[in-house]
Amino acid sequence: MKKIAILGATGSVGRQALDVIEKFPDRFCVTAMTAHHASEELLALAKKFGAKYIGVTGSLGDLEFEKKVPKGVSVVFGIQGLLESCSVGDPDIVLIAVVGIAGLPPLIECLDRGVNVELANKESLVCGGHIVKQKMKTSKSEVFPVDSELCAIYQCLGGMDTTGVRRIILTAAGGPVFDWKKEDIEKATVEQALRHPNWRMGKKITVDCATYMNKGLEIIEARWLFDLPPEKISVVVHRQSIIHSMIEYNDGAVIAQLGPTDMREPIQYAFGHPDRLSSVVGYLDFAKIGTLTFHEPDLDKFPCLRHAMDALREGGSLPLIMNAANEAAGDLFLERKISFGDIEKNVAFAMNKFAHLPGNSLIEIYTTDKEVKNYIYNNV
Ligand code: NDP
Ligand code: MG
Repeated sequence: MKKIAILGATGSVGRQALDVIEKFPDRFCVTAMTAHHASEELLALAKKFGAKYIGVTGSLGDLEFEKKVPKGVSVVFGIQGLLESCSVGDPDIVLIAVVGIAGLPPLIECLDRGVNVELANKESLVCGGHIVKQKMKTSKSEVFPVDSELCAIYQCLGGMDTTGVRRIILTAAGGPVFDWKKEDIEKATVEQALRHPNWRMGKKITVDCATYMNKGLEIIEARWLFDLPPEKISVVVHRQSIIHSMIEYNDGAVIAQLGPTDMREPIQYAFGHPDRLSSVVGYLDFAKIGTLTFHEPDLDKFPCLRHAMDALREGGSLPLIMNAANEAAGDLFLERKISFGDIEKNVAFAMNKFAHLPGNSLIEIYTTDKEVKNYIYNNV
């Protein structure tokens, strides 16, 4: 029986993870779960899955809520709820499925405690990849990718290292405004940006897909997970999202990982590996799929991907600045305070305005993140 802690249990990845756990009651159980504000939903999930510990990160305390928590279940508020969930009940795996830089503190906590991580959250690696990498050298923890593209690369490697890899090719679905004119894209509404053609996900990542920043974050995630130089990381637009990503080797051979377009596929692999459990989402029917298409990403229409490529090449604090600006601008867009086109403008502005440092301590990371976000929130 694998014991699993789910950070971000009420979110899109968290709920899909719980769905996988529910399908394999003899293999997986839940030790702890967290949510940010959705405390009532969290409590219902904790009762259903028998979690003995819940963390509510978006509140510093709520006596009324505590009264509803049954005997035998502990509730902890604030960031402590997130950090304690990494070890209470002695989990075999911690799934980090919170959104944004909030994923970095629990990732560091797991590495320090030698707890294995299934990582859905990509912003943690974008902001603190160099520290995470350093800690991974001495930590007993395994950091296993749940993000479908990165999980695909892991599977394509089949346990080998990256010797002989000419490049990895991350596939991008193209998002909801892929074939729009540039001037129309800039005016996309919240509803239009949230209409992803293939994946049902949280709002932040769905907007990131529409701007292509999601792929930008993933190329940086790949750099840290697989220790690859920028020139070996590439992107191709693949509208059907059937190929989850590929590796091209020096001899021209390409290994691809294909599968249903459903996050429960990489989640169940991450939980079950090295075992291959029967699919909870069904199997591909190639004759029905018929055609797979590929395009170059259009960096003129989607400049966020270009900014991320620059950040990947330069490293240091630039990916962190880019991420902070993107998180803040994405929030403002969802609150309808800025336009879709303004997300990219804010990202470009912040990448120019804030000093680029060669490396950052954790304190410097959190300080820079706050500074960039405050600047953007206060200057709309
Ligand atoms: P959601 O917005 O659906 O869920 C986020 C979860 O984290 C919720 O449980 C939420 O609680 C909690 N949360 C929100 N803000 C904070 C915070 N500041 N501190 C702690 N917890 C917080 O996001 P997704 O599930 O879509 O994405 C989660 C992560 O996984 C992201 O980093 C995303 O990029 C990555 N990912 C997601 C994929 C997907 O298919 N959704 C695919 C690949 C990667 P509450 O419900 O109370 O708000
Ligand atoms: Mg992805």
